[in-house]
Amino acid sequence: MFPGPCALCHQPLEEAGALDVCSACWSELQPWSGPACARCGVPFASGRALDAAEPLCADCRLSEFQFDLARSFGLYRERLRQAIVHMKFRRRERWGMRLGGLLAETWRSNQEIFGAGRFLVVPVPLHRGRQRERGYNQAEALARGLIVALGGGKGALRLEAQCLKKIRDTRPQTGLSRAERWGNVRGAFAVSPSVQVTGLAVVLIDDVMTTGATLSACAAALKGAGSRSVVSLTLARATPQFPDLLVDEPALK
Ligand SMILES: [Zn+2]
Ligand SMILES: [Zn+2]
Repeated sequence: MFPGPCALCHQPLEEAGALDVCSACWSELQPWSGPACARCGVPFASGRALDAAEPLCADCRLSEFQFDLARSFGLYRERLRQAIVHMKFRRRERWGMRLGGLLAETWRSNQEIFGAGRFLVVPVPLHRGRQRERGYNQAEALARGLIVALGGGKGALRLEAQCLKKIRDTRPQTGLSRAERWGNVRGAFAVSPSVQVTGLAVVLIDDVMTTGATLSACAAALKGAGSRSVVSLTLARATPQFPDLLVDEPALK
């Protein structure tokens, strides 16, 4: 069997691997290492906000978010964005698992957040109809990939894929204004009564964080059910700080 072309750059692959991506493209998936908000992790385009002891973005100064902290692996652009779109629209569960391994890098480089304690790992759910259409939930695949890459987390991580339910379908967030995005997902999620979250620390997993409205609505449900803390961990961050990130994909969510 001859390997096909790389799914991202379409150059012929040297050898058949588990994933149809060349090593050059894979190595382009790099973490954001510049200045960022201390709370929600949004990257700052300039270092101007870094004079403060704890640099916070405007949203966090207004304390808009229901989660306590958020971190993302990289920026939603270039190869990382291409890889995420590929994972979602080509029904590539294996891609989700492999990309979830990148979350482990973010995990390890944020020891002050993730280093101690036990976590419930909770993927942001899709509405049932949407999941049927796509064949799988990419956030769950990312969560599984994270746990595998951390070697199972030595028992400190427990995946609860059915913890959150999407209790009503929402319009795709893509194409909505900022205010519409917040209104669209408010109250759209609930904690399943069969899952105990009281007093537990939760890591909420999704592929892309844009305004943070979806993650915040999920965190509100978890906090309402008694979670002690909620940290959002996403693969990529789309932000107006980097205008090239704001070109919308069709029906991304
Ligand atoms: Zn390639
Ligand atoms: Zn922030």
